[in-house]
Amino acid sequence: MAKIQMETPLVEIDGDEMTRVLWPIIKKKLIAPFVELKTQYYDLGIKNRDKTDDQVTLDAANAIKKYGVGVKNATITPNQARVEEYSLKKQWKSPNGTIRAMLDGTVFRKPILVNNIKPGVTSWKKPIIVGRHAYGDVYKNAEIKTRTGGKAEIVFTDTQGKETRETIMELPGPGIIQGIHNTNASISSFARACFEYSLDQKIDCWFSTKDTISKRYDETFKLIFENIFEHEYKLKFETMGITFFYTLIDDVVARMMKSEGGMLWACKNYDGDVMSDMVASAFGSLAMMSSVLVSPHGYYEYEAAHGTVQRHYYKHLKGEKTSTNAVALIYAWTGALKKRGEMDALPQLCAFSEKLEKTVIKTIEEGYMTGDLAAICNPPAKKILDSNQFIDTLAQRLKDIL
Ligand code: NAP
Ligand code: MG
Repeated sequence: MAKIQMETPLVEIDGDEMTRVLWPIIKKKLIAPFVELKTQYYDLGIKNRDKTDDQVTLDAANAIKKYGVGVKNATITPNQARVEEYSLKKQWKSPNGTIRAMLDGTVFRKPILVNNIKPGVTSWKKPIIVGRHAYGDVYKNAEIKTRTGGKAEIVFTDTQGKETRETIMELPGPGIIQGIHNTNASISSFARACFEYSLDQKIDCWFSTKDTISKRYDETFKLIFENIFEHEYKLKFETMGITFFYTLIDDVVARMMKSEGGMLWACKNYDGDVMSDMVASAFGSLAMMSSVLVSPHGYYEYEAAHGTVQRHYYKHLKGEKTSTNAVALIYAWTGALKKRGEMDALPQLCAFSEKLEKTVIKTIEEGYMTGDLAAICNPPAKKILDSNQFIDTLAQRLKDIL
């Protein structure tokens, strides 16, 4: 079979540790034999970010703006321990945070379901998709840790130079203060991205904040969502037979546990960060989750929702076998290739990506999987595969059907 040709390159963003080990194997065994891969490669491994003073992260985000679609590997967000481990110049910021801030947008995380792994929440029958606002709030904050007591204020100077002040607290002793922000423009595009996603997938949209406590900040999110829904989406939702439902975050959490799933849960940045991990884990594994950043300007970044799997990497370095699940990384590639195929009108590329996804599902459903899934699957796994064996099994099966 002739290899599928691509037109526009994918922006390929490499990362760290175990996921960096798996990345080239996935490319070599599951994609390159079938697709004449065209990529623009950016090395966001921690050493190269340090070497380039993080310029490579900005370059990668700009490349996504230029080409439209990126695929990103998991990367280390350095803490103090990492600064020492890699002798870094400084504690570089989260590359995901930097890229999301540059592209704006919403991250959609969708569990990948297989019929031999039942969700931890027994009522869940369909995937719960978390739509996480990927801009602002605590991810772009200013913080002060005080050594003494004192007056903490919030000050806004408008474009005319007029100041608005509000006292946060008269601190009686040492304490902590934090300032966060969001913009109406970003919240509006978050709302539209969620409503568009609901329409595209024909699923209800649930949105939650804590507007009873945060009467201006969170209430603004609520009002913007309601306003955009009313004026732009109400009719479309009615025609499609789907609904938009707003309630408090605590209420959604309680209802979610009793629901059968099948909705988009639009979450503020922090809620989405935390809840998507909970949802992923309840559906089986962090590695069974696809994740895409959809920017209002029409850019897409596909990624794995999990981290660099540090513990497995240290085992790998000692020469021991690992059983790291490559599914989320594979779905990052298939998602990106499918989107590239749609944009460049290459149906073969889309069809290939779907075949690879189906192969992954079928292989696991037939009992061949990595250890994380074997621990929770029923009926029991036929064979627990190590990291390489799992990819080799997929490669063989893919060859057989293509
Ligand atoms: P992690 O890499 O997500 O791994 C946490 C644990 O989850 C692993 O130790 C493993 O459990 C399990 N796990 C995660 N992915 C797995 C996979 N593909 N297959 C099998 N098991 C998997 O989180 P972390 O170890 O806390 O973080 C490591 C680094 O990743 C950190 O430096 C962090 O900054 C970074 N990080 C990056 C991203 C990103 O770039 N998207 C996201 C989160 C974290 P067992 O050990 O029990 O097998
Ligand atoms: Mg998280």
